[in-house]
Amino acid sequence: MTRKESLAKLRDVLLLRREALRKALAGDLSLLQQLSMDGGDVVDIAMDTAQDEISSQLAQVESRELGHIEEALERMKEGRYGDCDVCDKPIPLARLQAVPYATACIACARQKEKIVPRFNSFVDDSAEHSTW
Ligand SMILES: [Zn+2]
Repeated sequence: MTRKESLAKLRDVLLLRREALRKALAGDLSLLQQLSMDGGDVVDIAMDTAQDEISSQLAQVESRELGHIEEALERMKEGRYGDCDVCDKPIPLARLQAVPYATACIACARQKEKIVPRFNSFVDDSAEHSTW
């Protein structure tokens, strides 16, 4: 598969993921659960507890991810998708497959993490890895 074909495939992944997140935010977790590849720890937490606090935390993670996905789709439209925001080099496919809305290569993302407060980078990391 060429890089171009792989990126086109990731667009489908992003569109489906966006749909699932929109449904989840509207209270329907079924599609998000289907998409969860690792057993869906975040979804399970939401299903297993009736605590409003956890639900609202979940909603925060989901709406932030939704924002990332919208941004990635916008970048695809503009033809910038898959290139690092910082150094302009192509982001490795393996990284995009793990985090389809990544906007920086690993080296630059690490560089950015050093600048942002520690708490924020922790939250972003867990959002990136928990449901993909
Ligand atoms: Zn970079």
